[in-house]
Amino acid sequence: MRKNIVAGNWKMNLNFEEGQKLTSEIVNMIRDENIKDVSVVLNPPYVHLHPVKKLIGNTAGLFLGAQNCSDKTSGAYTGEISASMLASFGSTFVIIGHSERREYFKEDSALLTGKLTQALENGLTPIFCCGESLDIREAGTHEEYVKQQLTESLFGLSATDFAKIVIAYEPIWAIGTGKTASSDQAQEMHAAIRTHLASKYGQAAADEISILYGGSCNPGNAKEIFSKPDVDGGLIGGASLKSRDFLDIIKSF
Ligand code: 13P
Repeated sequence: MRKNIVAGNWKMNLNFEEGQKLTSEIVNMIRDENIKDVSVVLNPPYVHLHPVKKLIGNTAGLFLGAQNCSDKTSGAYTGEISASMLASFGSTFVIIGHSERREYFKEDSALLTGKLTQALENGLTPIFCCGESLDIREAGTHEEYVKQQLTESLFGLSATDFAKIVIAYEPIWAIGTGKTASSDQAQEMHAAIRTHLASKYGQAAADEISILYGGSCNPGNAKEIFSKPDVDGGLIGGASLKSRDFLDIIKSF
């Protein structure tokens, strides 16, 4: 079901104490502010997941997600974390295919399909990331590029599985650069993504998918970006590490 979602991607930041402090602040603010109509997801590094889950408890509208999972079920894969492990203590989301994983860890579409399968088989909601580099944007082929990413990793999914995913459009040139896509650029790409998904799964199914924007989203620009009809929220990096900024983004709907 199409929902408004704001997900914080902590990336490889914060030690144990800092993670606990940030989570406690967010939990308290969300309880105090009585946030409605937005699902909030915290995606800390793996080692924080269980303690963060304990702090979240049963706070309404606040969910736990991982930043990655293995494409394998279990076994001799040193250093890997399976989707079933994540699900076993209450993670409900997992980010798959972030551009940093594609670039630095050479994750390709075939691998991402395996990760999606694992996530879905274990009841996790994948937040599937797509997005183009500056070169591709400047060459004007960004829509084709993103459509290709979606086709390669998602179009093998059954209609039932497709209905469970969330998409995050994150232009690489906007990540951590302070250079946000304009709200019109975001809307244009989100609409193109939805149309592409509709070409495979039908308009009704595509209309139910949440498509998040990510890339230098902050309290100053979130309202404008989230006001666009095909933008259903954000995947937030740097600004998710400050409770006040993160809350202000959540309240931008
Ligand atoms: P920033 O918000 O720091 O640009 O990061 C975006 C991102 O990559 C979230 O996954």
